Amino acid sequence: LDALTTELRRIVGAQHVPTDRDDTAPYATDWTRRWRGATPLVARPGDVDEVAAIVRACRAHRVALVPQGGNTGLVGGSVPLAGEIVLSTRRLERLGDVDALGMRVVAGAGVTLEALQHAVAPAGLRFGVDLAARGTATIGGMVATNAGGTHVVRHGTMRVQLLGVEAVLGDGSVIRHLRGLRKDNTGYDLASLLCGSEGTLGVVTAAALRLIPTPRTVAVALIGFATVDAAVRASAQLQHDVPGIEAVELMLRDGLRLAGAHLDVTLPAVAEAPVTVLVEIGVAESPVDVLAAAVQGLEGRVGEPAVAIDARSAGRLWRLRDAHPEAAAALGVVHKLDVTLPAPALAAFVDQVHQSVRARAPEATCLVYGHLGDGNLHVNVVGPGVTDEIDDAVLDLVVEAGGSISAEHGIGTAKRRWLEQVRAPGDIAAFRAIKRALDPDGILNPNVLLA
Ligand SMILES: Cc1cc2nc3c(=O)[nH]c(=O)nc-3n(C[C@H](O)[C@H](O)[C@H](O)COP(=O)(O)OP(=O)(O)OC[C@H]3O[C@@H](n4cnc5c(N)ncnc54)[C@H](O)[C@@H]3O)c2cc1C
Repeated sequence: LDALTTELRRIVGAQHVPTDRDDTAPYATDWTRRWRGATPLVARPGDVDEVAAIVRACRAHRVALVPQGGNTGLVGGSVPLAGEIVLSTRRLERLGDVDALGMRVVAGAGVTLEALQHAVAPAGLRFGVDLAARGTATIGGMVATNAGGTHVVRHGTMRVQLLGVEAVLGDGSVIRHLRGLRKDNTGYDLASLLCGSEGTLGVVTAAALRLIPTPRTVAVALIGFATVDAAVRASAQLQHDVPGIEAVELMLRDGLRLAGAHLDVTLPAVAEAPVTVLVEIGVAESPVDVLAAAVQGLEGRVGEPAVAIDARSAGRLWRLRDAHPEAAAALGVVHKLDVTLPAPALAAFVDQVHQSVRARAPEATCLVYGHLGDGNLHVNVVGPGVTDEIDDAVLDLVVEAGGSISAEHGIGTAKRRWLEQVRAPGDIAAFRAIKRALDPDGILNPNVLLA
């Protein structure tokens, strides 16, 4: 390791290879604090050539590495759990000029989502993926996890925004296809392959990204329902009837109360409903009329919806939704299960999951919220008696209902033992063949995805 440390210092400069425990510790524990490891060093390259040199050096020394962006991942994939070194991409923060005509931009892997949002806004453009960790999550991490977030219902996941990538593969070679054309059928779609690969095939160093026009007007409504079933029906009806649906998010009364207390804000009256749905629409004209008409037609509503038509009050409603993960984390180490359910199975699942957690850990808090429009729920369980057995019980329910055990956070370390149950043997064999081809010595993220 001493020889490798010397070599890495030569590549990136000694100040970018911290080895002191105090300096490396923040890179070794994840956002939830559930996954804690240790690392002998962190390498912080400043460009793609340095990334390639680091990967080659690690390969020559047979030392495994964990690529890390903002370290906001929620499945334990971003931290060194078996003494790997950490390759931090945060210095890869170059942002290209915004191409307003082509509606695209090239962003370095270390650019945060928020920095990207600020950079493209003056051109009347925005980025199609948004999530609450925007201040810290990086473009590279979002590509690696195929992040979803709150606007998938309208604009799709990270993969849909991706027009090309630059990356260093596990064998140290560089792939680069950043022209960023909307249509470009010139061979295998390597960007798509790396998207969602969770750092197991290559280190993403930059991405060409599609941008979309900012809607002229946006309106947000928080609508109350008596049951999850009514909310699921409303979600389908809204998506069917209303143009410009940007988000459909689910919250339950307990979660809203917790988020309100965490933010120290007074909740709107509709928050008393057992179930609330946050709907955002973005359209060219009078979103209020469109939204009001759509809301009136929904069955199973309770209370008066809270409606926001200016950015400030819309932001206030969104903060209630965004604060859910933080409010749960304030209660302790959260077991986070991010799952997709088929729409017809969603309401029953919410009931079963609460029963199942109550039976195993009666004093634990179980919060369920998420991206209702995509059938994607986040189950957060925290408190006394929460063990891996609870994860298994929840994921069993998901599999029984025909859902997916990972909607948007990936497999990471947390769900690795589940992979063989949910993917066909042929799929896993193909995963392994691809892994061997691109990372022949298995040095990239050995704790993630494939056992
Ligand atoms: C409050 C909160 C809310 C969130 N909401 C959402 C949400 O709505 N939707 C959603 O999808 N996720 C959400 N997340 C999870 C997280 O923000 C995303 O997974 C995000 O994409 C991770 O980005 P990151 O830069 O922090 O990556 P990291 O956490 O650093 O890494 C995540 C994974 O990607 C790999 N990786 C990171 N950078 C690279 C790179 N450049 N090249 C190759 N591999 C790399 C890592 O090895 C790891 O396996 C949320 C997290 C928090 C804390």
